[in-house]
Amino acid sequence: MDKTLHQIRQCTNPNCQFRFPAIPGQPGAGCCPKCGAATAVVEEAFPNLKPEAHNLKPTGPEVEVLLDNIRSTFNVGSMFRTADGSQIRHVHLCGITPTPQHPKIAKTGLGAEFSIPWTYHLNGLTAVKTLKERGCRLWALEGGDQAESLFSTTADLSGPPILLVVGNEVSGVDPGILNLCEKTLWIPMRGIKRSLNVAVAFGIATYYLRYTSRIGSTAKEQF
Ligand SMILES: [Zn+2]
Repeated sequence: MDKTLHQIRQCTNPNCQFRFPAIPGQPGAGCCPKCGAATAVVEEAFPNLKPEAHNLKPTGPEVEVLLDNIRSTFNVGSMFRTADGSQIRHVHLCGITPTPQHPKIAKTGLGAEFSIPWTYHLNGLTAVKTLKERGCRLWALEGGDQAESLFSTTADLSGPPILLVVGNEVSGVDPGILNLCEKTLWIPMRGIKRSLNVAVAFGIATYYLRYTSRIGSTAKEQF
């Protein structure tokens, strides 16, 4: 458990009441960052409660991921953290995707980038072909006419690992790779935007694939 103690401070100016966490003795925390008035401690020091490694094990299929030409270190760090939390077997990094050797990955990976085995490949298409020959089921996270909703897809749980392919933030999954994929999954978008941030989409997809019991069901339900 993280033993850091935080307290909650609140601005004493009745028109402001800005409320924020601080550690005891934090320089400057006695002054409101919004209006400059004095702040007071309103919740005493409390531990940052994090669940211990618990026994809620994933029930979904084994998943490896292939991050092809992801530009942002922020996104890659975030995806390593998600991969760590959802017990992804392996992360394949291709093309321009930065590896954990890049110092900026640590900002969002927070150490998770060291817990997951990873491999770097110069050419994502070649890597996908090799992994397909090894028996991986290739699933792409992408929109398009052939795509089906992530939430209505099913998988044989006893089958070989799924290789989830995620492509560039702007151009998406490489068409050469998409052609080799047996499934293309998209996440429903009901607002004005056509896609989610890539790391957010990846988080939803990996947790869904790993943890939901629906994925192994044979009944296809649309939602
Ligand atoms: Zn204030």
